[in-house]
Amino acid sequence: FDIREEGYQSVENEVENKLRPLSFDDFQGQNKIVENLKIFVQAASMRNEALDHVLLHGPPGLGKTTLSNIVANELNVGFKITSGPVLDKPGDLAGILTNLEPNDVLFIDEIHRLSPVVEEYLYSAMEDYRIDIVIDKGPGARSIQIDLNPFTLVGATTRSGLLTSPLRARFGINCHLEYYDSDVLSGIVKRSSSILDTPISEDASYEIAGRSRGTPRIANALLRRVRDFAQVKGNGSIDLKISEFSLEALNIDQHGLDEMDHKILLTLIDKFQGGPVGISTIATAIGEDAGTIEEVYEPFLIKEGFIKRTPRGRMVTPFAYDHLGRSNNNQEQF
Ligand code: ADP
Repeated sequence: FDIREEGYQSVENEVENKLRPLSFDDFQGQNKIVENLKIFVQAASMRNEALDHVLLHGPPGLGKTTLSNIVANELNVGFKITSGPVLDKPGDLAGILTNLEPNDVLFIDEIHRLSPVVEEYLYSAMEDYRIDIVIDKGPGARSIQIDLNPFTLVGATTRSGLLTSPLRARFGINCHLEYYDSDVLSGIVKRSSSILDTPISEDASYEIAGRSRGTPRIANALLRRVRDFAQVKGNGSIDLKISEFSLEALNIDQHGLDEMDHKILLTLIDKFQGGPVGISTIATAIGEDAGTIEEVYEPFLIKEGFIKRTPRGRMVTPFAYDHLGRSNNNQEQF
């Protein structure tokens, strides 16, 4: 049961879409970002111009796709969605760009995974709403310029560190999404259960929120599983007891830590006596990319107080030892 796994997500995509907020008013949390985007959207609408290009970065499931869809809705323009790895050849991108209506929003997920040729191509499209395409091959090859309708590119990435600087420089609006606190997450859980027609108690919504790793996608996924338990084992409504029972049955950690989080913490404890140890050493020990650990997993572990960043490297906190039921022989370091 891995809630972040791609396959799992695709099966549940339909319900996920049902729960997706469609307007700024429905979108909870990320207040600063939303307030700013509202202004920029309103200003662009008043001038009848395309909104400046937007870069959204932050861990998966925090609402990057949702927000860009909302931006398109609020601008009252079309929304096209694609992703870095899908855009294999410049021709793929040209096809999409030439089909955009004026001021449309084009969302490119995992924009850090664009191939360099496609990325290069994107530069002039973003800057001048123009692309050069090469027709014919060999000596007859020539390049023609095509004017595009003005559009807004919204790029999303979990790994902003991998973006090249020329690409980064072409985004006028740059937003970093943060993990959600449990007040906001419980609000999201309550909103989702009302869409799913399932009554939920206040404490149950907090119980689910608290185990969701600060992530709305996980909160919604857990809610759906708890709802299954409530339907089969209870009376259909979700209270604290059935939530605790289901989350226990699903093996969801009290703090929502998943397998990878555990692996990182246990590696630090068992192989490096709790640290301090450098990120690349941890990465090698775990067999995961250092940047992914740094940008996708570590921020949550630091935010929740499981790991500390020190000048000499990462250290596990006494809280983490406690949580994992390990004894801490290095206590004097704190
Ligand atoms: P990302 O693109 O960052 O991976 P998504 O935009 O796909 O994340 O969000 C995942 C799911 O979480 C969506 O289905 C949406 O219903 C829900 N979600 C994300 N952010 C919020 C929010 N602020 N309020 C309510 N639901 C949200």
